[in-house]
Amino acid sequence: MEPEDNISVRVAVRIRPQIPREIIEMCNVCTSVTPGEPQIFLGSDRAFTYDYVFDMEDSQETVYNTCVASLVESALEGYNATVLAYGQTGSGKTYTMGTGFDIDLNASQVGIIPRAVEHLFHGIDSKIKTARENGMVAPEFQIMVQFMELYNEEVIDLFNPIFNKEKLYKIHEDPFTGIQVKGIMLKTVMSAEATLQCLRMGALSRTTASTQMNTHSSRSHAIFTVHVKQQRLVPSDDGSNEVETLTSKFHFVDLAGSERLKRTGATGNRAKEGISINCGLLALGNVISALGDPSRKALHIPYRDSKLTRLLQDSLGGNSKTVMIACISPSDRDFMETLNTLKYANRAR
Ligand code: ADP
Ligand code: MG
Repeated sequence: MEPEDNISVRVAVRIRPQIPREIIEMCNVCTSVTPGEPQIFLGSDRAFTYDYVFDMEDSQETVYNTCVASLVESALEGYNATVLAYGQTGSGKTYTMGTGFDIDLNASQVGIIPRAVEHLFHGIDSKIKTARENGMVAPEFQIMVQFMELYNEEVIDLFNPIFNKEKLYKIHEDPFTGIQVKGIMLKTVMSAEATLQCLRMGALSRTTASTQMNTHSSRSHAIFTVHVKQQRLVPSDDGSNEVETLTSKFHFVDLAGSERLKRTGATGNRAKEGISINCGLLALGNVISALGDPSRKALHIPYRDSKLTRLLQDSLGGNSKTVMIACISPSDRDFMETLNTLKYANRAR
């Protein structure tokens, strides 16, 4: 069954394979998927249904083609889009998203962002080619990227790590371009390769920070954003042509780990981190669930409850397309966290 087209938020669950350590320690697999249906069982008696469910052996390509490819096509037509990866640390968010600094991944293991970037530039080339073949003026595209991290309700520019200490980036809403982060570095990119170079650079500066600050990266949200600006000629009423500008944003969000902060040892800064991360994930859950409510006209959508939801405000709901991929471990030792993730994702649906 194809999900309806007018639903702006879709929810997928992805079960990663067991990692070597879980196999060595003989963890049992406690998840199973109903064949041919987007339904997952946790243990034998808890069933959940989503828009899509990917089992352990499903490939990066399958995930991309099933739930992300159409968002890239929409972005080329001027719609905003957001893909979010949710789940406890170690559940496969970074692998799925492709936000890691992994130079030795083989082609089949490449995650969502590199695939989307290739797709986007391919789409641009073919639009230009089609226009030329039809004797029309080719559209012009400008692609810009930004890469930031949200940590303790503060923005960190991953393209500009040196300036972060002095700068306090403010989020504001521009009447023409929507939500912007003031002062954040935007890089203009001319090719998929150049874009991926930027992605790797930012991911590297995130990794560097995380060895210094311990588990920093599992406590922060990483947001890679592709801005697409397109100018094309369209016929106007009087028969002449006029320039139409389409802009869209595509956010790729590798969310902070959703695990509950252990009560012991969570004091001072650690406790504060826990609170603000939960605040972002909590607000996101509230926003997505409000968006999915059929009686939402009456509802206030609480975007302003966190930096994360404020940043994504013009790219969640409305005309934008959103996919949340909830990542889970199949192993019984993660049962409780997996249950929490499945419940969160269920609420978002
Ligand atoms: P997270 O970002 O949620 O903390 P990671 O993406 O780093 O988790 O994944 C944890 C480990 O599991 C990594 O070693 C990663 O390569 C592996 N992994 C995650 N998902 C898959 C998958 N679908 N197929 C193969 N390995 C995976
Ligand atoms: Mg990660």
